[in-house]
Amino acid sequence: MSYMFKNADQLLKLCKKYKKPLSEMVIRYEMEVADLSRGEVMNKMRKVEAVMKEAINGGIYEPKKSLSGMSGGGAQKLMKYFQRKKGKSYLNELAIRAMTYAIATGETNACMGRIAAFPTAGGSGVIPGVIMAIKEVDKLAEEKVLRGLFTAAGIGIIIAENATLSAAAAGCQAEVGAANACAAAAAVEMRGGKPEQAMTAAAMAMKSALGLACDPLGGLVEVPCIKRNALGTQHALGAADLALSGIVSYIPFDEVVEAMWNIGKLMSPKIRETALGGLAVTPTGMRIRAKLGLPALKKSHLLEQ
Ligand code: SF4
Repeated sequence: MSYMFKNADQLLKLCKKYKKPLSEMVIRYEMEVADLSRGEVMNKMRKVEAVMKEAINGGIYEPKKSLSGMSGGGAQKLMKYFQRKKGKSYLNELAIRAMTYAIATGETNACMGRIAAFPTAGGSGVIPGVIMAIKEVDKLAEEKVLRGLFTAAGIGIIIAENATLSAAAAGCQAEVGAANACAAAAAVEMRGGKPEQAMTAAAMAMKSALGLACDPLGGLVEVPCIKRNALGTQHALGAADLALSGIVSYIPFDEVVEAMWNIGKLMSPKIRETALGGLAVTPTGMRIRAKLGLPALKKSHLLEQ
């Protein structure tokens, strides 16, 4: 008996065959691939969750400015804003918590702190943001949280198998876009949705990030990365609500992943992690380049964009 899968179609067939949620099939997949017991697999994920929590707490309660000066303190600001507003912000508590935790993770990363690169360092805020916020607001037991993380991992496996998680290869759609898809599927399962709904949410979240450039100022994973992760949590939560309402994605997740990869190959290398295009070459981006001692870009380079 094998639990291997390469795409969403195969994973959904396994869920159907065994009448189990996505998370369960991903746990069995991990046991098979890594030749580990269930307990060992769960323990590994427990460690990932602990790192996520540590990164979030560090970002909120021990805020530091990054060396570039571009980030730091944002998570604490957002948390205090919500407390001041006494629930009267546009977004609800879950959404604000998700953004706060995503920013906290990104700020910890920008200050060289430890984060779980899940699915990548640049896109590391979305999944803990969404999953930890749901955990706290819904008061979930650890098992449910770990299952959310396994569901997210399953979506990441599918993207890595069929496209890429590398921004150098396919832009930010493959980093933050992928993270949004992972978190959306997790959010559906954590609220009791079906595997098909989780996959629908992943498809919708990723569709909304297609074509997203990777254009970090000075090549540092700070601007626009940290806030892009924060807003990515909202894509994920919105996609989860759409899917849980019964709305379906017209394009299946496997086809969305294929489209993401195709779009990535069409992208100019200037907007694939090189910091040579997009936001990275705005006047502000150029000032940061100069401040960091990076070589100035010629006018002709900018016109070629
Ligand atoms: S802009 Fe680039 S570096 Fe920043 S999060 Fe997106 S993919 Fe990562």
